[in-house]
Amino acid sequence: MEEEAPKALYVHVPFCLAKCSYCDFYSVVKTSGAVEKYLAALRKELELTAEERTQDFSTIYVGGGTPTALSADELAQLLSTLCGQVAFAAPVEFTVEANPGTLDADKLHVLRIHGVNRLSIGAQSFDDGLLKLLGRRHNSRDILDVLAAAREADFTNLSLDLIFGIPTQGPSDWERDLDELLRCNVPHVSAYSLTYEENTPLARRAAAGQLERVSEADELTMYETVIDGLTTEGYEHYEISNFARPDFRCAHNEVYWANAAYLGLGPSAASYISGERRRNASSLTDYVARLGAGELAVGFRERLAPEKRARETAVMNLRRTHGIDFDEFQRRTGFNASALLGEELQVLAQEGLIQVGERSAALTRRGLMVADTVLSELV
Ligand code: SF4
Repeated sequence: MEEEAPKALYVHVPFCLAKCSYCDFYSVVKTSGAVEKYLAALRKELELTAEERTQDFSTIYVGGGTPTALSADELAQLLSTLCGQVAFAAPVEFTVEANPGTLDADKLHVLRIHGVNRLSIGAQSFDDGLLKLLGRRHNSRDILDVLAAAREADFTNLSLDLIFGIPTQGPSDWERDLDELLRCNVPHVSAYSLTYEENTPLARRAAAGQLERVSEADELTMYETVIDGLTTEGYEHYEISNFARPDFRCAHNEVYWANAAYLGLGPSAASYISGERRRNASSLTDYVARLGAGELAVGFRERLAPEKRARETAVMNLRRTHGIDFDEFQRRTGFNASALLGEELQVLAQEGLIQVGERSAALTRRGLMVADTVLSELV
């Protein structure tokens, strides 16, 4: 079984300008003073994880939260800290998540000079009414403006996130969103169906009958529309929710789908190293206090048994449209995929949900439509 040092680094920036109605990512509304404490704690965490950083990172992903909710000066401090303490491979894919309305020329300059070469922009919708329903602070004009500003600053590796299945949204509204998306001509797109995460205002409103969920049939239609629409336009559908022009896949997320090692820093960030999974406390206060006391702020730690680890690898691999590569699987887990999963794969194949070949297995189109159910069969 392959044990590897992490080559992917995730840094969680836990600040947003306001909380969106559907969001269950860990973030707090930015206040003065909190950023300074966060940056000091992050420096300490980098120091304490130095021994785990034995390889140069080939991908770095600064996500959140909203990293671009930081001021240009705060962003510069964050990125200087990373550049000063972290060894990057060459070339490195260095992504920062950005929200429309939070990125100006000064911040773009800061990102550029620190080596950031990819922006993942949380557009979510081009329909201002739907953006409002989601509790987003930006409008469709802001999306076009941020793309123009990013291009002006020489960023070409741009990704847009979109959400479908938003209450009141119908298939024709989604088609309009996709037309607008195609006009933006970005090389990478992530398109997710809306999930009603527990304890979010959106889920509470749905439970109280104050808004109506989109029907399953409409949601499937929207998913098929995005697959067909983007692949027809030359995007590769390479993961359940992700589409890329040639050479523009997100290398960082491919590490997750390979179930390879990664290191996560910041409140709530997860790490997966040598079969151990851990997650930092989802509390900025705890994170700051524990690192201030000189210890890691781990809130949860679990060592996976080899078979569980192999099954999780299969589930993650099947998110990719090329699925499980049996040789890669054996190398990574020590298990023969056919011996471990053969029976389950055959049943799913008979149902037309998985296609099993000589050396690989992947979800079929039908399987993609019910991916969560199919993947839960293999855990
Ligand atoms: S901007 Fe992103 S992380 Fe922040 S509240 Fe909205 S969805 Fe959550």
